[in-house]
Amino acid sequence: MAQPMSGSKLLEVLRAEGLTVHEVRDWRHHNRNTKGPWGPVNGVMIHHTVTSGTENSVNICYNGYSGLPGPLCHGVIDKEGHVHLVGNGRANHAGLGDSDVLRAVVDETTLPHDNQADVDGNRHFYGFECVNLGDGKDPWPEAQKEAIEKVSAAICRHHGWSERSVIGHKEWQPGKQDPRGFTMDGMRGRIAARLAAGGGGTNQGPKPGPKPKYAPFPGSGFFHVGRKSPLITAMGRRLVAEGCDHYAKGPGPEWTEADRTSYAAWQHKLGFRGKDADGIPGRASWDRLKVPSDG
Ligand SMILES: [Zn+2]
Repeated sequence: MAQPMSGSKLLEVLRAEGLTVHEVRDWRHHNRNTKGPWGPVNGVMIHHTVTSGTENSVNICYNGYSGLPGPLCHGVIDKEGHVHLVGNGRANHAGLGDSDVLRAVVDETTLPHDNQADVDGNRHFYGFECVNLGDGKDPWPEAQKEAIEKVSAAICRHHGWSERSVIGHKEWQPGKQDPRGFTMDGMRGRIAARLAAGGGGTNQGPKPGPKPKYAPFPGSGFFHVGRKSPLITAMGRRLVAEGCDHYAKGPGPEWTEADRTSYAAWQHKLGFRGKDADGIPGRASWDRLKVPSDG
């Protein structure tokens, strides 16, 4: 369970993953929030458009069509592997799906077969439409599949999710067959490898060689009340060194309000504002803090 990312944060994590991202018209304010809730978010859903052509597909996903108003997803992934952001908030992509599947996604356990449509998916999933005719013949270029992998990994890493939080529309809603042309198990394997590698710029799996000097970003979901880790002490020491010190008794291993306010000061120092300076670490600010990996 997690609060949805702001538009700025989503853009940031996608670009940090090495993706080319295009912002379409007024996507930051384009949503279906007046029709129902958005969040808490639990996962990422992958679709195919049953359309061809980037511009045509992006327009349809932004506008929707009679009977199904847009946005029809959050981002469109074209055949070159570029991401076009068309919505920020609730989007018409998932419809009603299987509550047992939602439970499995939340628990990150094995997916059951989807055999009922009893829960609102538009509330709980980020949605990405991939340009493909869905006829089983239209090819899926490697650049496009790599972009699906990167988008999914970026969002999972931010929220502290595993690859099990990524599903296909066909795994959610009875009667759906998208995406067609690759297997979701195969895609989840790629996402897992990218997450294990620490993300950003490679899908070759963990790199050999010396241990990285700085601790990789563990995902925003890592930082919550009740979390205890030497990493939080190490982070606190770095915040103090940067002059972002709201600790009464100095940093400790347990995540507290003092950690949050100190981290918010660090985000402010870097120029982040509003929801992007809420004191919950994000990848960009974390990487610049350079927390030693050995504590
Ligand atoms: Zn779909």
